[in-house]
Amino acid sequence: MKRGVLHPGIMDLAKYPFLAEAGEYLRDKGFNLEQLGHPDWMPLVEKAYGRIITASSGQVYSSDIEKLKDLDKDMEILSFIVAVILLKAAGINTLTRRFSLAEARRSEKYLEHDLGRKYVSDKAVKDSDFPLKIIQELFSVKVVVENDEFMLSVPNYLQRAVHFHEKEWKLVNRRVATGFVHLTAHETVRLIRTELGQYINSRIQSITLTSIPDTFKARVQDLVQLATKFSDAVVISSDYPPCVKHAIEVLEKGENLPHSGRFLLATYLLARGQTTDQIAPLFKNAPDYNERVTRYQLEHISGSSGKGTKYQCPSCDKLRSENLCFAIPDCDGIINPIQFGKKRKI
Ligand code: SF4
Repeated sequence: MKRGVLHPGIMDLAKYPFLAEAGEYLRDKGFNLEQLGHPDWMPLVEKAYGRIITASSGQVYSSDIEKLKDLDKDMEILSFIVAVILLKAAGINTLTRRFSLAEARRSEKYLEHDLGRKYVSDKAVKDSDFPLKIIQELFSVKVVVENDEFMLSVPNYLQRAVHFHEKEWKLVNRRVATGFVHLTAHETVRLIRTELGQYINSRIQSITLTSIPDTFKARVQDLVQLATKFSDAVVISSDYPPCVKHAIEVLEKGENLPHSGRFLLATYLLARGQTTDQIAPLFKNAPDYNERVTRYQLEHISGSSGKGTKYQCPSCDKLRSENLCFAIPDCDGIINPIQFGKKRKI
């Protein structure tokens, strides 16, 4: 059966259940919300809830879909759809963003795997076409394949790589030929992770839900309760420099702050005398938040673990080079954010 513009098969939909074609597929099979409200479907609601809980803890839901029977693949697709309904009913943006990013990361794994299969066999060529079609269809990005490499036009590359601060993403460090940037399968899908997360998030936001089955309501309440864990009010002191305020605002919105931005925030606040206990809650809204990892990293940066080295706040020059500087006139004459608001150099 042909569906939508991508014509996915059931395996494709289990891997990429956010595609519009997943809804069409389920409707074609006769599934509807009223039916899923029957108590017999409670295990599915629990599976969907578990998918959200996994995402909320910064983990990526996984299942061995290659080995599943078709009926179980249907359950995979349905659990995503029911998770979306639970999230929409709960109306907690932070949870929805976390779920969207986690699902994007889950799909990224399949995209990368399928892209990488291209040259293994003729059948693999067909498998690898689908991720290319998704990238083109959803994000209007044409990926050119040549030998075992993937290429994006320089403008398409720069539009995405500008958000990455690690050296390897700088254009000067890439192989560029005839206007195209050469990438591995991993790098290609990594570039579109944020867009994929935003796409899933926007699809959830665009849903109109008039009512939900009674059997869903207890789990919706549980999600509302869970969200209180992520809603700590973050006080942004007016005397923080703009780069630090920006980093806090990014986290407050539940968006992804690059590693270098997190490092700036941690080192700055530690230098201002805050403790790791005071700083850790700032990261709770990060889409990939993991309490244990966050505490470990903060303790490492503060010098209270590892070799005892206390890391210093990066210089303004360094932050400028990482696109993390948002200078205002009050920044004139300072070379490190720590100096902001203090007596400046003459
Ligand atoms: S000049 Fe320095 S303190 Fe001011 S925003 Fe840029 S990095 Fe931050």
